[in-house]
Amino acid sequence: MPFLPDRGGPASRRPVAALRSGLSTRTAASRHGNCNKTVTFRSTERFETVDRLLPRLQRVATTEFEAVPAVAGDATARAGTIVMKFGGTSVGDPEKLKDVAARIVAAHAEGTRVVAVLSAMGDTTDELVRLAYEISPRPEPRELDMLISVGERISCALAAMAIHDLGDEAISLTGSQAGIVTDTVHGKAKIVDVRARRIHEALDQDKVVLVAGFQGVSTSLDITTLGRGGSDTTAVALAAALAASHCEIYTDVAGVFSADPRIVPNARKLHAVSYDEMLELSASGAKVLQLRSVEVARNYGVKLHVRSTFSDDDGTWVTEEDERMLEKAIISGVAHTFDEAVYRVQSVDRADLFAALAEAGVNVDTIIQTGDEIVFSAPLGDRDDAQAALERASANCDYIEGLAKVSLIGAGMKSHPGIAARTFATLREIGVDARFIVTSPIKISFFVERGDAERTVLALHEAFELASTASEREHV
Ligand code: ADP
Ligand code: ASP
Ligand code: MG
Repeated sequence: MPFLPDRGGPASRRPVAALRSGLSTRTAASRHGNCNKTVTFRSTERFETVDRLLPRLQRVATTEFEAVPAVAGDATARAGTIVMKFGGTSVGDPEKLKDVAARIVAAHAEGTRVVAVLSAMGDTTDELVRLAYEISPRPEPRELDMLISVGERISCALAAMAIHDLGDEAISLTGSQAGIVTDTVHGKAKIVDVRARRIHEALDQDKVVLVAGFQGVSTSLDITTLGRGGSDTTAVALAAALAASHCEIYTDVAGVFSADPRIVPNARKLHAVSYDEMLELSASGAKVLQLRSVEVARNYGVKLHVRSTFSDDDGTWVTEEDERMLEKAIISGVAHTFDEAVYRVQSVDRADLFAALAEAGVNVDTIIQTGDEIVFSAPLGDRDDAQAALERASANCDYIEGLAKVSLIGAGMKSHPGIAARTFATLREIGVDARFIVTSPIKISFFVERGDAERTVLALHEAFELASTASEREHV
């Protein structure tokens, strides 16, 4: 049995996974449909037609997140361990990498056992992916993982050199050397175990340990990657396995904001966010934390501190919900994403459809059913897999392009009526039409035309006064 140090985490309140694979988040659907043998897979810009066929507001549903498997291996908890993760911009050039090395050395000087997880420098991963597609229109997934796992290794080796120059001992490890064991799904593998013996040995020798993020070794001994933004998950899984006091996520913004600060200039930095809110924010497009990393953090009670690499200021704590969170802020944030595709499927057996999608590893998100029509969304990156799965399920399908998803999230929504009313009044004022609306107790999501996404986010941020300090939360 994999061993996990007891962190007193919220294991007893873990959600039950509805489907074992594929669905990372979902909302409930209703009735049953009939089978249809015709496969039409056409792209359409005429989503207005689709929309008119659907009622404006669907039933309230609870978002469930996938259960997380045990992540720890033969680790034994040691006091004073800290896991620090630095994102791509933070290590974007040699000077920044040296600054990160200095920060790691400073933490080590405080007597801490330091494990640092690094991302690839700047746009390295994008460039490697581009390179692969210059060579092949459909790169072999195993080889693509071999290629794109390299970026993180470069960062770690360079950081180890810089740390040596500062007088500390350091060792860089690939995900595989660090004992990150995953399933066999290339491109979006899930960590199934962390065998941290080698990390412990190095820490016991007073070395700083640098672990290449975003990657692991599969149970069939191939190199895998964990999906974009996956270094966050490496860091959180290591923090869980090593029983670190918390996990520091260093990034290019000062914390988790009430909206993407690049879109909403007066977005407010949140002092504290509950795991549930952060799950919804990440699932809705706030890419500051990879969704999977929040799932692991919640399941193992790992406190996250999201903060700037470029300052010493406190950032945002992601932790258990507490009373103050509920009292002080009804809405914590507005998120948006351009990365979801919407499918409209008719006359297909629901069980067959979602089984086929799950089997193909498609992460289905929103699901709405009216009559014998099902609308669901899934990441754009899963489109080829989704198309193949729909063909296998003999589904008659429209692929709806040109939409963005906007979500309003807040734990206080549970106890405050009128949020939907204010949301849709705001949309009416700015003349934006919401499509495929779904809600959970702490979220309202809907799709808008792509070109309307940013002004919708700005208008909702304004309407709910999210820039105001009145709803500031204290650190927990
Ligand atoms: P890293 O390279 O450090 O992993 P990412 O680019 O993955 O950083 O995530 C940080 C980015 O997330 C920010 O630059 C910001 O534009 C974006 N972002 C989106 N929504 C939010 C939000 N609500 N709060 C903070 N950042 C957000
Ligand atoms: N380098 C990977 C990416 O760009 C992983 C990460 O940064 O977390 O997605
Ligand atoms: Mg990231």
